Amino acid sequence: MSLELKMKVAQGMKRLYERDLVSSLGGNLSARTDDGRVFITPSGSPKWELTEEDIVEVDLNGSVLSGKLKPSSELPSHLLIYRERTDVFAVAHAHPPHAVALATAGFLKEPPHVTPEEVLYLRRLSVLEFAPPGIKTAQAISSAVHSSDVIVVKNHGAFSMGKSIEEAIARIEILEEASKIIFMQLLLGRLPMRIPDNLVEEILETYKKT
Ligand SMILES: [Zn+2]
Repeated sequence: MSLELKMKVAQGMKRLYERDLVSSLGGNLSARTDDGRVFITPSGSPKWELTEEDIVEVDLNGSVLSGKLKPSSELPSHLLIYRERTDVFAVAHAHPPHAVALATAGFLKEPPHVTPEEVLYLRRLSVLEFAPPGIKTAQAISSAVHSSDVIVVKNHGAFSMGKSIEEAIARIEILEEASKIIFMQLLLGRLPMRIPDNLVEEILETYKKT
């Protein structure tokens, strides 16, 4: 179980890096077990050579249980989310460039509702003002942790939560995909078009049935 989870955390982080959602030394990914152990990517290790041996195991207070490396510097935000949200089993933090640009420039303030998938996975989205990484970012996130599954911090990046690593990563990917679509509309000289509210309800109803 632990080894499998460590492998999934390392693979997931590599995926975010390979998809240009984070630079080699940026971003972090973690997963939590039912008994309160957290597996998180290390601080300062290049993402392209990450393996399960690099993943650090900590408890919910941040004490290292196993691993040779130092846990990510964003550990306080991951732990805050796990302590506050018992439904969350994975947290991804990346720097999706289009999403960060839109949020920082004031074009992304609420769920943009540009695609059905985004309606479903990003409907609990918050944008926060910049706070320095580490403890200060965790303090900022505490204000939005119960109302959001995706939190974008201006001039920095996004934190996403999920029931699984796959879901947390998908939320980052969908955030960036929706942001690219908004960008392209702006480049075409159009203000982003939203899916009408009555159809948003219909989309949510449709997904509920499947
Ligand atoms: Zn970051």
